[in-house]
Amino acid sequence: MKIMVLNCGSSSVKYQLIDSDQENALAKGVVERIGMSGASLKQSRFDGDKLHYVGEILDHTMAIENVLAVLMSRNHGVIKDKNEIDAVGHRVVHGGEKFEASVLITREVMDIIKDCIDLAPLHNPHNIKGIQAAQRLLPDAPQVAVFDTAFHQNMPQHAYMYALPYSLYRKYTIRRYGFHGTSHRYVSHIAAEMMGKPYSKLRIITVHLGNGCSMAAIKDGYSIDTSMGFTPVEGLVMGTRSGDIDPAIILHIMGQEELTLAQANTLLNKHSGLWGISGISSDAREIIEEAGNGNKRAQLALDVMTYRIKKYIGAYTAAMGGLDVLVFTAGIGENSPVVREMACKGLELMGLKIDPVKNKQAIKTRMEISKEDSKAKVLVIPTNEELVIARDTRDIVLGTKPD
Ligand code: AMP
Repeated sequence: MKIMVLNCGSSSVKYQLIDSDQENALAKGVVERIGMSGASLKQSRFDGDKLHYVGEILDHTMAIENVLAVLMSRNHGVIKDKNEIDAVGHRVVHGGEKFEASVLITREVMDIIKDCIDLAPLHNPHNIKGIQAAQRLLPDAPQVAVFDTAFHQNMPQHAYMYALPYSLYRKYTIRRYGFHGTSHRYVSHIAAEMMGKPYSKLRIITVHLGNGCSMAAIKDGYSIDTSMGFTPVEGLVMGTRSGDIDPAIILHIMGQEELTLAQANTLLNKHSGLWGISGISSDAREIIEEAGNGNKRAQLALDVMTYRIKKYIGAYTAAMGGLDVLVFTAGIGENSPVVREMACKGLELMGLKIDPVKNKQAIKTRMEISKEDSKAKVLVIPTNEELVIARDTRDIVLGTKPD
């Protein structure tokens, strides 16, 4: 089957056309600056062909129209007719408490995704625009929603409740949801395969370190805790997000600096994290390089980030009563031996030992990086959220249940 995978943001649409039998991407690309000047579409095809087009792209419907035109074009295309697309899988950020797995998008499902807008005002509206555009342009293709939150929906209540008045949970469903579920699910399954052990019998910690960063504790096949919470701000130090802070700090600063709600939100989401501490960049590569050049604030940013990861490894090992596998994934996790080494340093007491030579070799490749005698294995596994979306979409369309 040919599955179109769409990830729609406020001004961008990322896409892949995946052959779900071969499990490879026939073409992948991104439309950026939708509704702005200098909108562009970049695509790379499986055979290396590349396209970069700049033009007027006013909205998500026009973006997907352009994507379809490129996919069908004589010079850069991979299909002749849009009816060759068997189904569309959408990344949807928030499924609230309603979705524990991916679903076929029906009118009722759309209503629930709309109900979740309050929980993810920066994401769900754009996901919805993408779904509506795809429904309009590919009316015969079944559409499937794959939620970032779904994998974490089986967390026990003691892990997802905040110690706030219970009435707020009742009224606004204030609780931990967790995100990056598609990535945590994918890499944890691959980890079980690499270990040659049943998924349902392992205690796994997955560390997703990209622009957004989160960790999950996966015990006996279920996510039992995760570091992102009600929103994707909680938990680890990220490129521009603070992660865990004392919640009273924000009240204090709002008072001192007379910040509006929107300004406080920007402070936490866009001006914090690696960028906030270092004052240099949100890009981990630059932070690592500058730290290497002796920049103290870059080094501090790295120290705070990796110390936080280490604390979560300890906490999740305790939560699961032990650890069998630790997995690093996403841009930083797949590419940075330095971050992996710093995060694991001092955990030898827990039986976690990284092999420095293997650690240096593991760049964007599936590999074990722990020493022979390490009690828990440490793996690097490149994530592939689009493949999970394509698989779920295929399984739902064919009527076989996703894992
Ligand atoms: P992602 O969101 O998964 O695309 O990851 C983006 C993050 O990965 C950015 O912070 C990049 O700086 C980081 N990244 C990519 N390559 C490297 C690298 N070689 N070393 C450290 N960080 C990297």
